[in-house]
Amino acid sequence: MTVLRSGSASDVGLVRSSNQDLALATSSLFAVADGMGGHAGGEVASRLAIEELSAAFGRQPTGSGLAEAVTSANAMVWAHSQENADLRGMGTTLTAVALVDEGGRDVLALVNVGDSRSYRYHDGELTQITNDHSLAEEMVLNGELTPAEAAFHPHRHILTRALGVSPDVKVDVWRIRPIRGDRFLLCSDGLTNELGNNQLIEVLSTVADPQAAADLFVRAARTHGGSDNITAVVVDVIVGEEDTRSIPAVMAVSPEFVDPTGVAPDGVAELQPLAVPEIRIPNRRERRKAKRRERRRDRGRRLITLRTMLFVILFVAIVGASYFSVRWYNTNSYFVGLNGNELVIYQGRIGGFLWYHPVEAQRTGVTTADVGPTYLPALQSGVEESTIGNARTYVKNLVSDHMSTHSPPSMLPPASSTTTTTAPGAGAGGT
Ligand code: MG
Repeated sequence: MTVLRSGSASDVGLVRSSNQDLALATSSLFAVADGMGGHAGGEVASRLAIEELSAAFGRQPTGSGLAEAVTSANAMVWAHSQENADLRGMGTTLTAVALVDEGGRDVLALVNVGDSRSYRYHDGELTQITNDHSLAEEMVLNGELTPAEAAFHPHRHILTRALGVSPDVKVDVWRIRPIRGDRFLLCSDGLTNELGNNQLIEVLSTVADPQAAADLFVRAARTHGGSDNITAVVVDVIVGEEDTRSIPAVMAVSPEFVDPTGVAPDGVAELQPLAVPEIRIPNRRERRKAKRRERRRDRGRRLITLRTMLFVILFVAIVGASYFSVRWYNTNSYFVGLNGNELVIYQGRIGGFLWYHPVEAQRTGVTTADVGPTYLPALQSGVEESTIGNARTYVKNLVSDHMSTHSPPSMLPPASSTTTTTAPGAGAGGT
């Protein structure tokens, strides 16, 4: 008699606003669905698929029953998408494993549609049982990409098969002997996009409790970016068969087995051994080396980030200080010059400096006729004064000096007639 124990966890991640993944973990049926198709569609699709899978498998809890339950779930999602314009185009992935009785023997039936994955962890080795039904995976199968290239290929999220996007669906099915000590991981791509095989192995080999392992998977995927919804179901075979290598433990079932029109005549006769890549666990020395490499990379990244920040702060400080120095240099200086025949007090440097041109600070109402002709050359060049008060005093003195030797001049207007008009020609002394 086989006994299973499981744990499951699901999280919205750090980027998405809603969780369209859904996990199912009962005593004999375990599944992960990753919905897609708009804000509402994805959630509806994954929920409908899981509900229908559970209900249909409950009515026929066998290997072929599980495959037919997936077909039924497909029909359910498809029908809803056709009936509701808002949900049109929705779909979902679905991978599930169920403990079933076949001729008095316990068997784990495993099904998959889409790019959620099922793994088997057996005797220290992790095996990806399911194939991703994605464009990138097809390119790998056609020899156009290596698996490493496929992991980062832009087409890795384009599905070639999903539940609920057409009236019919082709389901991949496997039969697995439940061997005591085996662990199964069912997960959405939000987990496998963030964690590599070595990280999956690290959790499965060190965290004995399946619920703690599922929780840790989700936390780790969040830590590594959490760019998608994350879901993990861990299923442990607590009581099961002894490990006997003479019989293949994982077998793929031919598509005829899951043809919705019927089950293959004898089921077992249709079985084909599945060639799945084995993943070797690195030994302790290799893992230590890998960790050291990872730490060095992290330190390097932190160092570069810190240097970049310091550089940006320094650059901003230098630019800011230069700007304010130039501004101060220009606005803390005045000179008396001519605009036509009138004496005008300008703010700024004679002739301007960089992007600053002198501006009129005050028109005096005093004309060249009110001052002595000996001052005119200096006024035409501009006479610098450190403050506007000094500039006014200078003009008054010119007028007083002229009055003492000539007829009374026109009155100097009050100091409040300040303007900020740019000086014509921006040059010192106007004309
Ligand atoms: Mg996803």
